[in-house]
Amino acid sequence: MTEYKTEHQKKRFYNSGDWKRLRQEALKKDNYECQECKRLGYVNLDSVKEDGKRKEIKMNVHHIQEIEERPDLALDLDNLETVCLYHHNLAHGRVWKEWEKNRWADDELDIL
Ligand SMILES: [Zn+2]
Ligand SMILES: [Zn+2]
Repeated sequence: MTEYKTEHQKKRFYNSGDWKRLRQEALKKDNYECQECKRLGYVNLDSVKEDGKRKEIKMNVHHIQEIEERPDLALDLDNLETVCLYHHNLAHGRVWKEWEKNRWADDELDIL
């Protein structure tokens, strides 16, 4: 079983072709919308431009069960959820200010 305990292992995972393919699938599955915003009933007005085309928005694909704990679910589509940056940070208990310093760029925070 592959483990994702160290930064190096995680980085390798998030740079892998398998992950990049799967996160596209997860984004499609969730219609490129933050699932938490959806649950809360927020309409994501920023996601569509006036001409109907989708804006480039930062969406993250989050592991519901973290890969550190459940490496077996790292590539399980059912364990993935599309979230906005704000809710992704909340999910990880990160402080918004810390995100602003862009410390987490190597995590799941790759940009759509
Ligand atoms: Zn959200
Ligand atoms: Zn996450």
